[in-house]
Amino acid sequence: MDINLLIDQLIAFAVNEKLLPARDRAWAVNQLLDILHLSDYTPSGFSGKTPPYPCEILKNICDWAAQQGFISPDTVTMRDLFDTKLMGVFARQPSAVTDEFFALYKKSPKAATDKFYHDARALDYIRTERVAKNLAWKARTPYGSLDITINMSKPEKDPKDIAAALTVKASSYPPCLLCKENEGYAGRVNHPARQNLRLVPLDLLKDGKPWYLQYSPYVYYNEHCIFLSDRHEPMKLTRKSFERLLNFVDFLPHYFIGSNADLPIVGGSILTHDHFQGGRYVFAMEKAPVEQTFKLKKFPRVKAGIVKWPMSVIRLNGSKKDLIEAGEYILKKWRTYSDPKADILAKTGDTPHNTVTPIARRRGKAFELDIVLRNNRTTEEFPMGIFHPHAEVHHIKKENIGLIEVMGLAVLPARLAKELKALEAPLIKKDLAAIWKDESLSKHAPWAEELLKKYAFTARNTAEILRTEVGKVFARVLEYAGVYKRTPEGKAAFERFIKKL
Ligand SMILES: [Zn+2]
Repeated sequence: MDINLLIDQLIAFAVNEKLLPARDRAWAVNQLLDILHLSDYTPSGFSGKTPPYPCEILKNICDWAAQQGFISPDTVTMRDLFDTKLMGVFARQPSAVTDEFFALYKKSPKAATDKFYHDARALDYIRTERVAKNLAWKARTPYGSLDITINMSKPEKDPKDIAAALTVKASSYPPCLLCKENEGYAGRVNHPARQNLRLVPLDLLKDGKPWYLQYSPYVYYNEHCIFLSDRHEPMKLTRKSFERLLNFVDFLPHYFIGSNADLPIVGGSILTHDHFQGGRYVFAMEKAPVEQTFKLKKFPRVKAGIVKWPMSVIRLNGSKKDLIEAGEYILKKWRTYSDPKADILAKTGDTPHNTVTPIARRRGKAFELDIVLRNNRTTEEFPMGIFHPHAEVHHIKKENIGLIEVMGLAVLPARLAKELKALEAPLIKKDLAAIWKDESLSKHAPWAEELLKKYAFTARNTAEILRTEVGKVFARVLEYAGVYKRTPEGKAAFERFIKKL
């Protein structure tokens, strides 16, 4: 392997993707030589076309570095640390990135995010080719086409990394993966390298305490971004949250933004650092129509309605100012609202149960706010939560239903890809016993039994039927998470709360 050629390919890639001005070439070569422990370099003369992402070039450089003993143990984690350091050479200083963002913003908000997103991918902060391994499909349900994703892109931990992590000194820096101190951090075996991460500060409330915009390294949908607090402080929904959400879609009208709920079970996976998630993607929920309108006495200009969705969603449409007020008003009312007939109790002792998952977007010139009512109470019968997927659907999904799922995108565990494939043969042979006997498949047996009553499986239709049926199970998962069921009793209970408003 000719390391000189690989260096030249990486430099050509950076120049072609406008990460590196051509006049900085010699400087960049020297930075790479340092990381590669080389003191010698002979230009290869390479000046060809380069791929849209650096994955292949980086893989070849890592192969070379592993042979030299610079990557040890030779695991995905160690390679990630090494190639991120290489790409960090092409990440400009944060202040320069921010200045460019605002210069482009003057042209258009889209121009600013286009460049910021392009660079996050070109710098391999978003590992586009790894994300492409995710399985994704759309499944038609009564609520529209839901997005189903099986996450194949998070590499499994190598035992060698787990062993290596034991020898690393315990560290609480940066405090978490969402802290802005990750920007430029070299990482360690138990914390990802972030030399290629850049954040743009946005002082949307004009209070001198900006929050930070960055992309998610996992991009579950187009331009999946994260907007995070400058401080490591827990998720907390307040009036300020609504101000931030609506100001965000005022500032970037082509993006939506939402917040996870601020209580366990109904919240996302990181409750310890206040943050939102947004992006440029239209979810099934956004397309779902309002099926019943109502008036808010206090806010006569706001259009309000209940959305046709498996979860319990109030949609508000109006001006930014009105929606901030109305959003805060509904949150406050909901926090203290109990309806024992509908199993909704605001508190157990001092422990609160009621919260919301709010999502803001633009609808033409108007602002729109979806408020999804949540309750995290558990009982002996439902120890994981009354309004959480029940045992019957755990074979597909048992994790928390956070913001992304709420909007209609299922993020399902990698094990499912293997299991769905393994289910095909016994389904075609109508061999239910084989499914029961198989340790990894038996949890799907009751589902398989139902499916066998409905379908005649063949080699041609089985994979497709399973994809459709997973979508239907996901719709049920969301129905479980809804505080008001889509039954006459549930609708009547929802109306009791609406009356309170
Ligand atoms: Zn943090």
